[in-house]
Amino acid sequence: MWSYQHQYFCVHQIPALNDNYIYLIEAIEGNTLAVVDPADASVVNQACKALNKPLTHILNTHHHWDHTDGNNALKKHWGCHIIGAASDAKRIPCMDEQVSESCPPQIEGLNIQVLEVSGHTIGHIAYVMDDALFCGDTLFGAGCGRVFEGTHEQMWESLKKLAALADATKVYCAHEYTLPNLRFARNVDQHNQALEERIHTDTQTRMQKKPTIPSSIALEKATNPFLRPLQAEFMQNYATQHQIQANPLQIFTHLRLSKDTW
Ligand code: ZN
Ligand code: FE
Repeated sequence: MWSYQHQYFCVHQIPALNDNYIYLIEAIEGNTLAVVDPADASVVNQACKALNKPLTHILNTHHHWDHTDGNNALKKHWGCHIIGAASDAKRIPCMDEQVSESCPPQIEGLNIQVLEVSGHTIGHIAYVMDDALFCGDTLFGAGCGRVFEGTHEQMWESLKKLAALADATKVYCAHEYTLPNLRFARNVDQHNQALEERIHTDTQTRMQKKPTIPSSIALEKATNPFLRPLQAEFMQNYATQHQIQANPLQIFTHLRLSKDTW
């Protein structure tokens, strides 16, 4: 477990399954201990024991099993309050509270904003708490989620919302996919110094068996190929190279489809 101190809360990062990350958010004031996307109840229970605190909330980003599988057992064990997107209420197990951009959850000790980020799934949401972003399978380190249920246009709009957050925002995504993502990134984004530096740093980090996550919005904007269409020079070069229209949605769609079969 790795821990990161923010002003009003501490984020504890727990590796789970093959490459998932589960996040426990411990408020500094009050008793709130919330978990984001509990893929596995047993590792969450262990962490709660280690922190010597009961679990009070579950925050789900989307319905996929590797984000919700612990809901049932954790609810039984702790009686915790389960929060998810109003539009995903039928697919998220044991949900107690439906939230949306206009109706975010109110949890003691935390200031939470909801962003609707459909694309990977319809009804996917992200939680923003001050300078921390919990984005599930929408944005990854140097990558983004596959477009399973939504359209490429929806996914692009969702990624733009995340890219508009403050540069210093920490990106707590749900999987450790960074190194394979960086290999794809290098292939489509040559001559990017920030990308080369990230490949060096993140490779070292993984050799030491440490997480490359959280990253930051600034780092993702500079190195994530799925956010690079926001930069005019990248967009022009990519469009010329692949003989497609120089517009960000076209470039994003081309990149996403290329990665699907890479
Ligand atoms: Zn997913
Ligand atoms: Fe996932």
